[in-house]
This record gives sequence, structure tokens and C-alpha cells, in this order.
Amino acid sequence: MLKNKVVLLTGGSRGIGAAIAREMAAQGARIAFTYLSSEEKAKALENELKTYGQPVKAYRSDASSFEQAENLVKEVLNDFDRIDVLINNAGITRDNLMLRMSEEQWDEVIRINLKSVFNLTKHCLRPMLKNRGGSIINISSVVGMFGNAGQANYAASKAGIIGFTKSIAKEVGSRNIRCNAIAPGFIETEMTDELDEKTKEAYFANIPLKRFGTAKEVAELCTFLASDKSTYITGQTISICGGLNV
Ligand code: NAP
Repeated sequence: MLKNKVVLLTGGSRGIGAAIAREMAAQGARIAFTYLSSEEKAKALENELKTYGQPVKAYRSDASSFEQAENLVKEVLNDFDRIDVLINNAGITRDNLMLRMSEEQWDEVIRINLKSVFNLTKHCLRPMLKNRGGSIINISSVVGMFGNAGQANYAASKAGIIGFTKSIAKEVGSRNIRCNAIAPGFIETEMTDELDEKTKEAYFANIPLKRFGTAKEVAELCTFLASDKSTYITGQTISICGGLNV
């Protein structure tokens, strides 16, 4: 589905990002992915993905830094010649009730989850305009649509991504550049692995499909939006949440 497409993915070293990198490499993409602190995991993934026979490279780059994003895009263009797909996946949580939330917790989440999307999109647009096409995929969350107690910072960052996505779709649609958001619900990660069965059952009660999603399922949706199978889809936020939002 992605034969020879060059994908730039932020936060590829773990979790959903690593699943996206694996799925896209299996679909024939050339993968440039970033990490911040998980160097060993990033290098191991880089080696694993090379077995698919396409170029792969891991870059240490802080997505929340405008300057590092600019340098990263230059390096990727130097190494891969073009960027067809940008996936803004890097994200963090710093949960706290509003009364206890520090300015630092607010700023950190907005910088890493939202400003990073501006940073990477800003620097990838020019090469995409030159290529006369591209697909930008931003990883939001169902929490950005519904809010969540204790996550005002995270919800605001993820809601911001949705507005950003719609605006970029309008700005560059005429240039054949698409921009969509994905809103995952509960996805199995290291974090959900730690929940006991009783707590999981309580969550499942509100999910029509009665289970958490897998990172691979998110990666498959991402692959569809990156591919030429979705050429008339832009400006959308697609939920992948087992029906949590119905
Ligand atoms: P995760 O396992 O914690 O992985 C986060 C990834 O982001 C890591 O690769 C991390 O790299 C990278 N990262 C963090 N800060 C970064 C920065 N400043 N610059 C570059 N990379 C950075 O998270 P996840 O659960 O896979 O989540 C991935 C995305 O999906 C996030 O945007 C998250 O908000 C969203 N999401 C997740 C769920 C869920 O249930 N898991 C649900 C809805 C939405 P290092 O390890 O190298 O630092």
C-alpha cells in the first residue's frame, strides 16, 4: 500500500508509533522516525525494520523544538530526497486535576503534543508542495473530543490538533496535500498492561466492542490514510475507539 513512499514519523521508538513504523515498513514504505530518550529501543527497531529491505533511519529529535524540527526535516530530505507522509504521533500525558495542575504540567503537554504538530507540519509543507502532494496524519485522542477529568492539558492539546488539522486541510487541499487526524480511544500499551482485570472490565462496560484496541489496529488506519486508497479524505478526525463515542 505504501511502496516507496517516504514516511516521517515522530515518536516511533515505542507504543503506537513503533506499531505504525512496523506496519508501514511491511507495506513497502521508507521510514524516517524520531525518538527522544529511548535510544536502545529506537536502534533495535531501526535494525528490525531494515529486514523489510527498504531504507530506515532513526533520528534523535525533540519534536517540541522548532529548531530541531527544522534540522530534522533537512536531514531527512538529505537522506531520503522527499517526504510523502508526515505522522505527528509524539505525545505525553501529565495528568492532574485543575486545582493541582502546575503551569509546568500545562506548558509541557501543550509544547510536546500541540506545538510539535505545528513545528513538523511547518517544515514539511514546502517539500510536499514541491512534490505536488502529501498526506499529514495527526494523532489526536477521543479525549480531545469529549474531555476528561484530570486531563485538561492533554484534552486541550488533542482538541487543538483537531482544529489545526481542519485548517491545514483547507489551506493546502488545492495542492493535493491531505491532512487528517486519528482519535484513538483506549489502546493496549505498557500503561494499560498494568491494569488489573476488574479495572479493565469497568472500562469495557462503556466500550461496545468490549476490549481495548491494539496499536496495530491504529497503525492499519494510519496506513490507509497515508496511502493512495484514501485520496478523497481530508480534514477528517477518524475515531478508532471500539464505539466508545456512539
Ligand atoms: P508512548 O508509548 O508513551 O510513546 C510516546 C512516543 O513519543 C515515544 O516514542 C517517545 O519517545 C515519543 N516522544 C515523547 N516526547 C517526545 C518529544 N518531545 N519528541 C519526540 N518524541 C517524543 O505513547 P503511545 O501510547 O504510543 O501514544 C502515541 C500517541 O497516541 C500519543 O500522541 C498519544 O497521545 C496518542 N494516544 C494514545 C492512546 C493510548 O491509549 N495509548 C490513546 C489516544 C491517543 P522516547 O521514548 O524516545 O522519549
